[in-house]
Amino acid sequence: MSSGEIGSDIRQAATLLRDGGVIGMPTETVYGLAALASDEEAVRRVFDIKGRPYNHPLIVHLSPTEDLSQWGHFNSDATALAQAFWPGPLTLLVPRTARVSDWVTGGRDTVAIRVPNHPVAESLLELVSDGVVAPSANLFGKVSPTEAKHVFNDLGKLVDYILDGGSSEHGVESTIVECIDTPTILRPGSISKDDIEAVLHISMQADTGESRAPGMLTSHYAPNARVVLVETIEELRSQISELSISGTRCISLHFDSVQEYAFRLYASLRQADETGVTVVVALLPPDQGLGVAIRDRLRKASH
Ligand code: AMP
Ligand code: MG
Repeated sequence: MSSGEIGSDIRQAATLLRDGGVIGMPTETVYGLAALASDEEAVRRVFDIKGRPYNHPLIVHLSPTEDLSQWGHFNSDATALAQAFWPGPLTLLVPRTARVSDWVTGGRDTVAIRVPNHPVAESLLELVSDGVVAPSANLFGKVSPTEAKHVFNDLGKLVDYILDGGSSEHGVESTIVECIDTPTILRPGSISKDDIEAVLHISMQADTGESRAPGMLTSHYAPNARVVLVETIEELRSQISELSISGTRCISLHFDSVQEYAFRLYASLRQADETGVTVVVALLPPDQGLGVAIRDRLRKASH
């Protein structure tokens, strides 16, 4: 098998992982750069390939058949959320067990865990039958991949294989909820604050402070093009017309539904770069539900 090859052989991908390889893995959120969580050398390679600082902890991905108690201490909130949303685009931050290594958590005594809802990822994790780290399969700070070819374009020969699972259904990274004392949303995603509150019967705050979730930077998900944010369609039209008059290559980004916005966001930013667009004017969706996550990613992309 040649490096960076795109294919759909789940068994071969599982064997590569078990042998300490690093592969592109499809999930319903974005494509991950996968390695066995227990393999220090393989995990180090994940950080090195991405250019990600070693102290930005990684999410451990598990198959739905894994025994969760082997990995983290789930309190009643974590248990309720896992029952309601797993497999799915939700990451839970819980106290770790001895099985989870320092090289995954950056030495923290907590671990972020997710059970992805994607048939290919699920089969792969089942075959591996161990925890797999899988940060987004892109260079640090850049736009996340939602198709196998995005992973190939960014990381190509640096990875051992790219497992193709089609376009990522959600298109934005998982919602991260810390379940230690008061449940707290550390990163918005397609599971919304309302969804979580409905399960826990509480009202929550968002807290994305660096101390609680290292790696939540103000600039992230950034294309080469400049991203300009607008709140109304009128503003969008006037910006586009001004830019066009001045001869700037620009595109507008807006979709009727937030689901479609999330699904196409990263692919659109990538396409802008590929086609020599220098300014993307993006209409911010309403600040509710999935719109909160899209606004978060757009704001970071615009920094
Ligand atoms: P991703 O970049 O999608 O791989 O998500 C990883 C993010 O989850 C990190 O940048 C942290 O913000 C958060 N995270 C993961 N593990 C931990 C942990 N043990 N403690 C605090 N935050 C974590
Ligand atoms: Mg990422």
